[in-house]
Amino acid sequence: MVKILNKLFLSIFIFVLFISLFFVPILYSSNPYYTDEYYEQLILSGDGFFWPIPGYTYISSYFGKRVSPTSYASSNHSGIDIPASSNTNLYAIEDGIVTFASWGAGGGYTIVLKLLNFPNISVSYCHVSPNFIVSRNQIVKKGELIGFVGPKNVYGINNNPYKDSNGNPTNGATTGCHLHLTIKVDDIPVNPLNFFNKE
Ligand SMILES: [Zn+2]
Repeated sequence: MVKILNKLFLSIFIFVLFISLFFVPILYSSNPYYTDEYYEQLILSGDGFFWPIPGYTYISSYFGKRVSPTSYASSNHSGIDIPASSNTNLYAIEDGIVTFASWGAGGGYTIVLKLLNFPNISVSYCHVSPNFIVSRNQIVKKGELIGFVGPKNVYGINNNPYKDSNGNPTNGATTGCHLHLTIKVDDIPVNPLNFFNKE
């Protein structure tokens, strides 16, 4: 009797191990946010995100590996850079709640939205103007004006380590006025261009 029970438990154990080994990785890798199909569906359904800076489509630095433009900037670019002059309007790419609107070190002055319809997605707008028109916990609608491109140089930040070649303090790790846009899914940066309708 004991032997039969032992065999039964062993069988159950092997069965559970089998299920774990084969099905857990499948569940994990099927996270829809990481597949091309997911992005295609999002775009085809007309639910593509709103371009954060209408009229500005030139991208000076794409997502991923790159040659670092300043000694401070990353060589694995967490987002895309869109050059635009200081005070250019910035818009919410989706309905969201503002979780951060303040100085953000390497990102300079930064606005972060957590998306309401995509709770595991957060969006960061970096090197923005310190003249914030949104504040933490504010709800913003897709296409709503939320801020402005910031100046290259900013003053009044204590111990700002970011400086240009003249030694003047800069708006984070930046070489000129631009919007840096990061989109994170489950805290992992992904290519922001996947979320927008392709023109
Ligand atoms: Zn950037």
